[in-house]
Amino acid sequence: MCSRCEVWELCSSDNACSWCGFSLLDFAIQADRSRFPGGEYPPPVEVTVLNLSAHREIDVESISSSAGWIELLNLESVPQRIGPGQQKRFLLDIDTVAATKMPGPGEVKVSVTHAGSRSLTLEIV
Ligand SMILES: [Zn+2]
Repeated sequence: MCSRCEVWELCSSDNACSWCGFSLLDFAIQADRSRFPGGEYPPPVEVTVLNLSAHREIDVESISSSAGWIELLNLESVPQRIGPGQQKRFLLDIDTVAATKMPGPGEVKVSVTHAGSRSLTLEIV
């Protein structure tokens, strides 16, 4: 049963309620750091993708960045399936030296099949 409208009977393969449109997939992303001193070589940043869905697996489709100085290190780890309530960590390499030639914040975008995308901003200070 859909927890929002309490009208629609859901199938185990449904990603959203066909009656009220309530999405059964939800996720969040967070980075262990988001600001980096310019000219330093910081260790890789950990980006954690949390599956907030109670009963559904999510498929991380892609992790992309808007800036050339942010690079996904474990590229082979995408696509990735994450079980309900589980989380997965991905590593990003931050090239603060390259960043000085490309000023402005960089955006990291995580896309999940049928659940849209979430972004976070990294910046060189
Ligand atoms: Zn519903």
